[in-house]
Amino acid sequence: MIVPRRSSSSSAGRARPALFLDRDGVINAEIGYISHPDQMRVLPGVPAALRQLNLSDYLSIVITNQGAIAKGLFDEDALERVHARLDRILAQKADAFVDDLFYCPHHPDVSGRCACRKPAPGLLEVAIAKHNVDRSRSFMIGDKSIDIEAGRAAGLGAIAIASAHGPYLGEDYRFADLPAAVDFILGPYKKLAEEAEIVASSMLHTAEEVRRRLCVVDGASVIAARVLAERLRRRGVVCELAENGANTPPPQG
Ligand SMILES: [Mg+2]
Ligand SMILES: [Zn+2]
Repeated sequence: MIVPRRSSSSSAGRARPALFLDRDGVINAEIGYISHPDQMRVLPGVPAALRQLNLSDYLSIVITNQGAIAKGLFDEDALERVHARLDRILAQKADAFVDDLFYCPHHPDVSGRCACRKPAPGLLEVAIAKHNVDRSRSFMIGDKSIDIEAGRAAGLGAIAIASAHGPYLGEDYRFADLPAAVDFILGPYKKLAEEAEIVASSMLHTAEEVRRRLCVVDGASVIAARVLAERLRRRGVVCELAENGANTPPPQG
C-alpha cells in the first residue's frame, strides 16, 4: 500500500506557516543509516502531533541529509521504501501525514560540497518556494546544531529537540520531543508572538542597553521573554537571554 503525501499546496494563494522537521531523532529513532523499512521506528506521540499539525494551518515538511546515497550504501529506491513505511505508520496510527519530504543525497567526502546538505539552507529554500511558506511564522526543528544553523540561515525560527547531540548554538526554543514543540507552537505561541510583536516594534529604536534589560526583565514569564527574543532576532536585533532562559528578578524601586 502506498500512502501518498499531501503535496497539494502550491505557491499559488496565501502563504502558509510550516514546521520543517529533521527526520532522525525528531520523527523516528536515530539508529544510524536507515536502509530498510523495518528500521523505521516512529517516536512515541509523533503521529498524534503530526495529526494536530495537519488539522492546523501549518504545513509539516521533512528536511533530511541522506549522505548514505552518495556513499552507495543504499539507493534512492530503498530510501523511497523507507519513507513509504513512514507515511504508512503515520496514516495507520493517527491518520496523519507529512506534506512533503526533501532529502540531500550528497556527502562531502564523496560528491563534494553541495548547497542542500544541512547546515546549508538549500533544501529549506526549495521547500519554502514550492509551498509558498510564510517564513515569519515558521520553524526548523531538529536535534543537531546543523538543523538549528540551517533554520536560522533560511530566516526561520529554530527549535532544538534535546538529544545527545547537544548542546546547540542559537536555538530559540528547546523541547524534549516533537509533541512538546507542536503543543507549544499550536498552543500558547500564537498569542505570545502577537504580544511580543507589539513590544518588539516599540523596542526597535531603543538603545541596545535598554533593550537587553527589557528583553529579560519585561517578559511576564521566561517563555514570554523567549518569544520576545525570538521575534526580535527575526528583525535582526540581538537580545540575549540569561543562561537557561532564566528570568532575572526585576530591579527594586
Ligand atoms: Mg537528526
Ligand atoms: Zn546536497
